[in-house]
Amino acid sequence: MSVNPAIRHDWQLDEVQALYALPFNDLLFKAQSTHRAHFDANEIQISSLLSIKTGSCSEDCGYCPQSARYDSDITPEALMPIDKVLQAAQAAKNQGASRFCMGAAWRKPKDKDIERVVEMVQGVKAMGLETCVTLGMLTDEQTLRLKDGGLDYSRPIRYTGACA
Ligand code: SF4
Repeated sequence: MSVNPAIRHDWQLDEVQALYALPFNDLLFKAQSTHRAHFDANEIQISSLLSIKTGSCSEDCGYCPQSARYDSDITPEALMPIDKVLQAAQAAKNQGASRFCMGAAWRKPKDKDIERVVEMVQGVKAMGLETCVTLGMLTDEQTLRLKDGGLDYSRPIRYTGACA
C-alpha cells in the first residue's frame, strides 16, 4: 500500500491549537484547499440507506424508536426478502447512489441472519454498488463472514449495541 507523503501523523499540540484558533473562514479555506489537493472538488459520494429489519430491537438505547422498550409509531417489520432489498438498491442506483447501506434493528444478529445479509451484500455488489451495513453487535466470526462475503463498509458497534 502506498503512503501519501502529504498526510501527516506527527501533529504537535501547539499546531493543533493554532488550527483550532483560526478564524472560521481561514479554516474553511484551508480545509477546501486540502480537499481540492486530494479529491475532485465538486464530486460527492451519494449513499442510500434502507432499513432491512425494523423495530422490536431488544436493546435499550434511550434515543431510539426501534427499541421494543419504548412506545413509538414504528411498525415492526421482519428482515426483508432479498428481492425487495435488491429492488430498493436498483432504485437507489438509478437515482445516483454509489453506495447502498442496509440497517437492521438487531441487538445481536444470529448467524442465520448474517447469511441472509451476505446474500443481500452480494446481490447489491453485483449491481456495481458499494455496500455498507449497520447490524448491532457482531461476533468476530460474523464480521469476517461479512468481509469474506464482499462487504465494503460497516458499523458493527461492539460495546453499546447502538446501531442507528
Ligand atoms: S441497538 Fe440499534 S436498533 Fe436497537 S435500540 Fe439500539 S440503536 Fe436502536
